[in-house]
Amino acid sequence: MHKYSLYAQHMVSFTVLASGSKGNSTVVSGGRTRILVDCGLSCRELFRRMKLAGQQPETLDAIIVTHEHTDHINGLVVTARKLGIPVYFTEATHRAWMRWLTPRRQMTYAQWIEQCRKQAAERQAELDATVEDCEHEELDAETQPIAVLPEPSGDPAPESGSNWPPSRKEDPTWLPGVEYFQAGQPFEIGDIAVSPFTIPHDAADPVGFVFRAEGIRMGFTTDLGYIPPNVKAQLQSVDLLLLESNHDLEMLRDGPYPWAVKQRVLSRVGHLSNEAAAEFLEKSYDGQAAYVILAHLSESNNLPELARVTAERALNGRASLLANRLLLAAQNEPLSAIYF
Ligand SMILES: [Zn+2]
Ligand SMILES: [Zn+2]
Repeated sequence: MHKYSLYAQHMVSFTVLASGSKGNSTVVSGGRTRILVDCGLSCRELFRRMKLAGQQPETLDAIIVTHEHTDHINGLVVTARKLGIPVYFTEATHRAWMRWLTPRRQMTYAQWIEQCRKQAAERQAELDATVEDCEHEELDAETQPIAVLPEPSGDPAPESGSNWPPSRKEDPTWLPGVEYFQAGQPFEIGDIAVSPFTIPHDAADPVGFVFRAEGIRMGFTTDLGYIPPNVKAQLQSVDLLLLESNHDLEMLRDGPYPWAVKQRVLSRVGHLSNEAAAEFLEKSYDGQAAYVILAHLSESNNLPELARVTAERALNGRASLLANRLLLAAQNEPLSAIYF
């Protein structure tokens, strides 16, 4: 391997591969660990963009998910299976994601027990290990698919001879490993410390993150209706700040979206406007980051130049902020990797 790439692989870096309502993915690297934050691109497109950005997909150690909206999880199953890596969710997000993948399948309790038995048998065959009683709810998330007791259903049991319960390969929610985290409880993935925090958005349990590796702190938050005090507090003293700048208020109001969608975007659990991002940058942000990245820009209700100018104005209002480099994350191409 070339000396430079060896060197580069051991640096802290941050690479936005895609950002916006058609797919979100970012690679956070620190020392020996690489995390993919969200997996909204197809596996094929993700790999293509990683290579474009000088990253090797096989070096990813884990995927971490902010929330279950399609633009953040679209390529999740294929990518995790292909790379054989674990996925980190909050428990509520994982359950919401599984419901999304299996919206019409409802099991009776007897079917659920039968599925557990079948999965346990598969696990035993694979691991040649003692199988725990799967009627116990605490299944080993790392080594087997998780079954969730569904809503009670009045549906009759499937006819005999059907494919029920599905095998491990047929189960659309099966992942090589599932790890749970909770907002407000920091944890580590390899040598990257992860601090998840709650954000206001219309998903089951959405989060933003502060990642820390080798003393470098990287704040990451998109998909939030407004910036509450807990989020403002998290985004101080960071070396890199990735913040949503979703729409221009006037463009959204006059734009093509149906009224109900406009209301959703504008709501307290929708998306952050250029103006709201600028207000944070001007009034609440401490100006410490070497890089500020505006992200999740709407293609219908925003223009990159509008987002940039609005944020620049907010930053330029404060002399101490002149060192901040302002970048715009794009939907269709990766940003160059930022190395620390
Ligand atoms: Zn989104
Ligand atoms: Zn969302």
